[in-house]
Amino acid sequence: MKKIFLALIMLCGYSYYSNAQQPVKMIDRPVKDMSIKKDIAIKNMPVIYDFSKVKICVDKTPAGNNNLPPRRSTAGNPIPKINSDGSLSQVGVIQQPLTTATEKMWNTGEVITVYLATNNGSEFIRDQVKQYARAWEQHANIKFDFINDFSSAKIKVGFFKTGQSWSWIGRDVLFNPLRLYTMNFGWFDAATLPEEFSRTVTHEFGHALGFLHEQQSPVSPLQWNRDKTYAYFKANDNWDAATVDVQVINKYSRNNTNFSNYDRFSIMHYPIPDELLLSGSGAPQNNWLSVIDKQYARLWYPFAPTGSTTTGNLRTQDDCDDVFFKFQYNVVPADKVEFTLQLGETEARKVTWWKQVGIPRTNNTETFLWVQNHSLIKEENRTSITIQIPFNEIDMNKGISFFKAKMFGVHTPLNYKWNVLQAVRGGCRITLTWNKDVCP
Ligand SMILES: [Zn+2]
Repeated sequence: MKKIFLALIMLCGYSYYSNAQQPVKMIDRPVKDMSIKKDIAIKNMPVIYDFSKVKICVDKTPAGNNNLPPRRSTAGNPIPKINSDGSLSQVGVIQQPLTTATEKMWNTGEVITVYLATNNGSEFIRDQVKQYARAWEQHANIKFDFINDFSSAKIKVGFFKTGQSWSWIGRDVLFNPLRLYTMNFGWFDAATLPEEFSRTVTHEFGHALGFLHEQQSPVSPLQWNRDKTYAYFKANDNWDAATVDVQVINKYSRNNTNFSNYDRFSIMHYPIPDELLLSGSGAPQNNWLSVIDKQYARLWYPFAPTGSTTTGNLRTQDDCDDVFFKFQYNVVPADKVEFTLQLGETEARKVTWWKQVGIPRTNNTETFLWVQNHSLIKEENRTSITIQIPFNEIDMNKGISFFKAKMFGVHTPLNYKWNVLQAVRGGCRITLTWNKDVCP
């Protein structure tokens, strides 16, 4: 009785705090006995899950945060492939319209700061959290940066032993004026097994990346036996039918979620006993990222498609210009893009005079890089220049412009534009070497 009373208090307290002003929390609760399942699994027998011991997530209806800054228009798009002539090939992927859950996702390539509380969480536990959070980094183009500053960290992780683990969804954490914890792990201790760290940490950090519960996917095929389902959650979680509808049975709208093919092995899926369904299989307890989880993460946080470096030659169509380009991903800080312009030489023939490129900025200006080696005044010469520009300030819808000294040294814009910036992401380095500027 005392337990039920406490649970009621927590539920009431929770709904009180989760009014429309509060970010959505996804709440998860512990599996009490992992060791039995582990042993059974190791023997490679059909796994019999004791679902009565599995605690599940409470998925609150998204309150909707209208203050989120827009993702960059390219944020969920695959990065185009850069061809050796500098042109781009689009990678063919259909994207769902941007909607609530999508808008909560981070920009591709973003570095998200995370604070791990030091009270209640031992060094061992914090290390486990880091390890299993980073499971996403291999499959999603996103980085978690664990820092010691509670105030500035975007994801704030507590270890309050409430018996509940939960997380806010995606970029909701950007609006946290009260500096609340945005994630909690409620049951870890020195005896917690790797499977349980993985199951819970990877799941909660999935919510932090904007992923929702898989059993409510718009394409979920689960056909519920409602009477059994209501009875089961009444007995295990003391939920009424309406709560079960919202938390378990109802599917997310196609209009406000991205979704993969339904995947009963997703780390974002509730464990579901078969007997709650009219037919077919429920879902086991999933401890690790599934194959589709990995594909889905890669689809929505895509990596550069062509390896880390692309090279080729640009032809400006002026004289016999030949500008060698080298395009690298993930080599400078993720919020910057680095540009280098340098004078090169081909067949022992030095390129001379003045050359310039212009990088378009979102404020409708261009940032220019110039080089020259013809001046008799030594200080006026430089054969290489490198600058970094904030990624957010680059106008990806325009091309890089080219200029050079023409007849009588007149500085002249060329007609050619290099339309490559759709392929640029934070962390890129673009090196341009002007190797040839006349015809033989
Ligand atoms: Zn959850």
